[in-house]
Amino acid sequence: MTDRSAIQLIDEEKDFHQRALEYFQQCIGDRDVGLDYHVISVFGSQSSGKSTLLNILFGTNFDTMDAQVKRQQTTKGIWLAHTKEVNTTIEVNRDRPDIFVLDVEGSDGSERGEDQDFERKAALFAIAVSEVLIVNMWEQQIGLYQGNNMALLKTVFEVNLSLFGKNDNDHKVLLLFVIRDHVGVTPLSSLSDSVTRELEKIWSELSKPPGCEDSSLYDFFDLKFVGLAHKLLQAEKFIQNVKKLGDSFVLKGTENYYFKPQYHHRLPLDGWTMYAENCWDQIEHNKDLDLPTQQILVARFKTEEISNEALEEFIKKYDESVAPLKGSLGPLTSKLAALKEECLAKYDEQASRYATNVYMEKRESLSAKLNSHMLGTINEFLETLTEELWENLKLSIFSRDKTTTSFIESLDKGKIKVESEFNESVRSFKNLGLITSDEEISLNFSNDFEERMKQIRDTELKAKINYIRKNLIPELKDHIIHLLSHPSKKVWDDVLDDFESTIQRNLSPYQVSNNKFDFEIGLSDDENANVYKSIRILAWRTLDTTVHDYLKIDTIVSILRDRFEDVFRYDTEGSPRLWKTEEEIDGAFRIAKEHALEVFEVLSLAVTSENVEIIPDMPIDEVENGENNEIYQDNEGVFHSRRFAHILTELQKENVLDQFRRQINITVLDSKRSIITTRTH
Ligand code: GDP
Ligand code: MG
Repeated sequence: MTDRSAIQLIDEEKDFHQRALEYFQQCIGDRDVGLDYHVISVFGSQSSGKSTLLNILFGTNFDTMDAQVKRQQTTKGIWLAHTKEVNTTIEVNRDRPDIFVLDVEGSDGSERGEDQDFERKAALFAIAVSEVLIVNMWEQQIGLYQGNNMALLKTVFEVNLSLFGKNDNDHKVLLLFVIRDHVGVTPLSSLSDSVTRELEKIWSELSKPPGCEDSSLYDFFDLKFVGLAHKLLQAEKFIQNVKKLGDSFVLKGTENYYFKPQYHHRLPLDGWTMYAENCWDQIEHNKDLDLPTQQILVARFKTEEISNEALEEFIKKYDESVAPLKGSLGPLTSKLAALKEECLAKYDEQASRYATNVYMEKRESLSAKLNSHMLGTINEFLETLTEELWENLKLSIFSRDKTTTSFIESLDKGKIKVESEFNESVRSFKNLGLITSDEEISLNFSNDFEERMKQIRDTELKAKINYIRKNLIPELKDHIIHLLSHPSKKVWDDVLDDFESTIQRNLSPYQVSNNKFDFEIGLSDDENANVYKSIRILAWRTLDTTVHDYLKIDTIVSILRDRFEDVFRYDTEGSPRLWKTEEEIDGAFRIAKEHALEVFEVLSLAVTSENVEIIPDMPIDEVENGENNEIYQDNEGVFHSRRFAHILTELQKENVLDQFRRQINITVLDSKRSIITTRTH
């Protein structure tokens, strides 16, 4: 039974059939044929009964002379028919492989030049694609060195050498000689001997390409001979002979089986039309036909196609399958692995039949594509995980028992836990082959890790500095104001002493040695020194603002007045004085004024008792570069020296003295009036 008529795979114009693939798809349907198919070609002179034989043997439907209305030539070209039928003497398993039969129709001898070109191309093509080449010949042609047949065989040998000469693999073609109208007078064995001799002669005279000089006909070909009775004169015997011949195409595993694996081109059927068309294209354009290259090209194309299909299917179901599992490692990894495995299995099923290295190469790239598709999900998982791990770490540091565990111990312990849990997750993805390389992941992690460690340490440091500052600043302020409000002549010595000892006291828990501090958050020596420096700057700024805020004109005037009044109004025992004479008042006034003014210079310029101007050992100005830090203008438009020691300008000093004088003069005046008042009583 034929599925449908044969198609003209290669037409008279030597064009490849445009819809060959479609024809194959119709023949195969959705069956997965893979490598389980065969290709057979027939050669022989015109009208030697080739098509008739194929039709009877394979149930095909090639045109024959008989079928034509007029006895004229059938259409030239290479015809292709599909069949699963083989005419046999025995019952065979119904599940037979697909067979593709190529019927080569040449033309008769009139235009020889053109003919030879076509025959040669057809031979090349047939050898490139088929396992068995039937050479059809009349019995009487044998031994005559006559006609197309031997010329054709010479061509076949030559093209075969050009195709496989350099090949090491043991691919072979079966040359099946079918001797027609073999009436039996001459036994088949002597006919075959005769043909074999001719073949060997042709082979020996063939100019062989370098490297093949010593090769034998049998390195490339197996030979079989079959005689068929005269179709018209021995009709029944003819059919019987054809059926017997048919047995050899189905009896797999027997000595006489014609489709030996060695003859197969090992190309899956879904790549066949592409391969055949490429081969024909090369042949038709007289280019070198290199079968391995063609097979690789087809393999590349087909494996790519198969890979894309598998990938598309993977992507289609990916989001839906993965979304619900995003949070939990176990289910997520097994789902991803299962999806990947399924996709690769789908690829393997089709693609593994193609050239192994091409198949494997494409498999790797498919696997990489799958991995890169999954990477988003994996990164997302790892990010969420990292976030969680750090939150837990912070919590564990925060809620640690501070009496037994230090910040650093707690951080170190937590950090190991973060690292190990993260790495463990990465490992589970990696072990299942879901991550191609974890280099980038590790790099990102360790960068992020350092950043986060720094953040945690910074937060702790800030808290520590804040704590220190909360005690240090008010303490400094209190002490300094206390000292300045009742200044002695060496008040700045006292201020400096107090300044240092207050810092010292507040930092004592962190002091390791004289000049070395450790703030116990895992900082380097330099970093610790910087923290110390920043605290010292803070202390200096506090000192600076406290001094300058406190020692304003009014305050200084009132300090001087207090000093004046202390001496003027009270005697050495501390009792208020009662004035008797103006001279007495004037005397006391002079002494008190002198006493008050003893500290005037001290309050307007901060110098030590050794007359050294106090200069902060830290940069205390907030404004950095670009501006003159020494001088600034206050709210009243007065310029001040920003230098720490310079408390009053000359102008301010005069101002202070003016006010001071005015005020003590009033005091004196009041005192003198009190005498007068006393007198009038
Ligand atoms: P093709 O050109 O080689 O394909 O030959 P065809 O199959 O078209 O047959 C050509 C002619 O030979 C037809 O008229 C057939 O009837 C005839 N024919 C076919 N088979 C045989 C055979 O075995 N013996 C003889 N004598 N004639 C045959
Ligand atoms: Mg024919």
